[in-house]
Amino acid sequence: MFHIYCPYCEELREEEEFHPKGEAHIVRPKDPEACSDEEWGDYLFFRDNPRGIHHELWVHAVGCRKFFNVTRNTVTYEILETYKIGERPTVTAERAAGGDNQGNVQVASGGQQTVGASGAAVASVKGERA
Ligand SMILES: [Zn+2]
Repeated sequence: MFHIYCPYCEELREEEEFHPKGEAHIVRPKDPEACSDEEWGDYLFFRDNPRGIHHELWVHAVGCRKFFNVTRNTVTYEILETYKIGERPTVTAERAAGGDNQGNVQVASGGQQTVGASGAAVASVKGERA
């Protein structure tokens, strides 16, 4: 069991209250009719699958039911920060590559709490995605 910080409830809640919903920051084309089939297909179906820092959309399904974003390390499963929809991440792959914070980020700026993944959490996340 581990806890995830919900930026709307402003507290740590049990992991079972949350569900991942895929890549974050996917922008719907302003004029879908003007898109080529390839552009529309990219928007609908193609997602990044990076090794390392990844921004994801999650929902606090059994809590406030609001969507928010999570910055997660796909190698260690560590959740580095959570932030509200419309906000920008403070932890990015570019900053992680340039800095010394890879795998040892304690607190992201902006007052958001960091939640490290335990072995049980890793198993849980894997099971949910399989
Ligand atoms: Zn919540």
